[in-house]
Amino acid sequence: MNDVFARPQPESGWIEVIAGCMFSGKTEELIKRLRRAKIARLPVQTFKPRIDARYAKDEVASHDQTRFQAQPVIEPEEILTLVEPATQVVGIDEGQFLGDELPAVATILAEQGRRVIIAGLDTDWRGRPFGPMPHLMALAEIVHKQHAICRVCGGPATRTQRLIASQEDILVGSTEAYEARCRKHFDPEMGARILTDQELRLP
Ligand SMILES: [Zn+2]
Repeated sequence: MNDVFARPQPESGWIEVIAGCMFSGKTEELIKRLRRAKIARLPVQTFKPRIDARYAKDEVASHDQTRFQAQPVIEPEEILTLVEPATQVVGIDEGQFLGDELPAVATILAEQGRRVIIAGLDTDWRGRPFGPMPHLMALAEIVHKQHAICRVCGGPATRTQRLIASQEDILVGSTEAYEARCRKHFDPEMGARILTDQELRLP
């Protein structure tokens, strides 16, 4: 975290983005920042897309089962009506699913003087920039990229490899259908064809 942003400024909010592939610890990092804000007695509200039904309905939950209370929304504009006047820190998880209006909503929240922290996938299973995330990363004051571990080579992973054949954009909750890969071992075509046993690394 840039020291300049270590203290909340009542007159000026800002946007922080926590981006990365699946299994890179984005939600853990979001929850860590929100917990620290709560320790500092800052009023916090957290939102997530309703589409993400994994683990818990009104919480954000990371793959390691760290949890934090969150309000589900379908459209990002709902956040503007649900956010309470006193709220100083707004957390948003799975931002990639919240649609093209999310950057405008985040901008309004920041211009109201709030700290807005958004976690999300930077690229999809095809390796392409995902939903509103690239736009948000451009507008944000602070961008942090999380990395996972490549399941093939053990190096830093930046891509989300789909392991099952499907052309669907979203396979929500199917974490077993994905693994983290580095640039070298990422194969965007793999998700579009049936895998051999060798590719699945079965015995
Ligand atoms: Zn690798």
